[in-house]
Amino acid sequence: MLEITDLTVTYPGGAEALHGVSLSVPTGRVTTVLGGNGAGKTSLLRAVGGLLPQYRASVRTGSVSLDGEDVTALPPWQLVRRGLAQVLEGRHIFTDLTVRDNLVVGGQGLPRREVADAVERAYEQFPALRDKATTSAGYLSGGEQQMLAIARATLRLPRLLLLDEPSLGLSPLMGERIATAIADIAAQGVTVLLVEQNARLALSISEQAVVIANGNVVTACPAVDLLDDDKLSAAYLGGA
Ligand code: ATP
Repeated sequence: MLEITDLTVTYPGGAEALHGVSLSVPTGRVTTVLGGNGAGKTSLLRAVGGLLPQYRASVRTGSVSLDGEDVTALPPWQLVRRGLAQVLEGRHIFTDLTVRDNLVVGGQGLPRREVADAVERAYEQFPALRDKATTSAGYLSGGEQQMLAIARATLRLPRLLLLDEPSLGLSPLMGERIATAIADIAAQGVTVLLVEQNARLALSISEQAVVIANGNVVTACPAVDLLDDDKLSAAYLGGA
């Protein structure tokens, strides 16, 4: 279980992006974080992923705990050891490497046999990647690059996966494929914290919906409640 308690995040100059946010993220399920521009969604992911120092930002109050361990101050590489994977802001794939080599890099440190098995699982999950195994990743479409980024991040089946707007800039069909893959990943026991503009699509694969406004959690409820309640969907899904 990922537990966020009373989290306050500040950027240099004192700008506060989150004001005492508390949130429980259920294990093996997708939780979607919704909210307008500047609401604090990305800052929340950065805090969980240990990336705040890269932005000279800091946690002023509160904590992030993973399965009971306080991981608030841990750098990203130590979080990786505890089972965290993230696909954030830009896909960070190696455009000069082939699709297969990008995946192999994701399996670095694993025994060779396990890497081969994991790459095979990735191809089963994303058949389009198998078809382009020997193509340089830079030649993939945006959607295929997103698939590759997700496949690489989940090669070792993380405990917790953070995703920032995975369907951004993709066609509706590709967005749906990515959503289906995320649902499959969660079904394998991975806890997913997802920030997504395409609220309906994200909620369709989510257990929990969290709405953030101005750095505060304004709603945390079952995703179906948000989808089914006319008043809530009008307020938070903008009739989308
Ligand atoms: P968007 O959907 O536009 O990305 P968001 O909900 O992800 O928005 P954040 O990016 O977390 O929101 O921003 C929350 C607040 O923190 C905003 O007021 C923003 O200006 C501020 N902020 C974000 N990144 C920085 C930064 N690197 N330096 C200073 N302030 C920042």
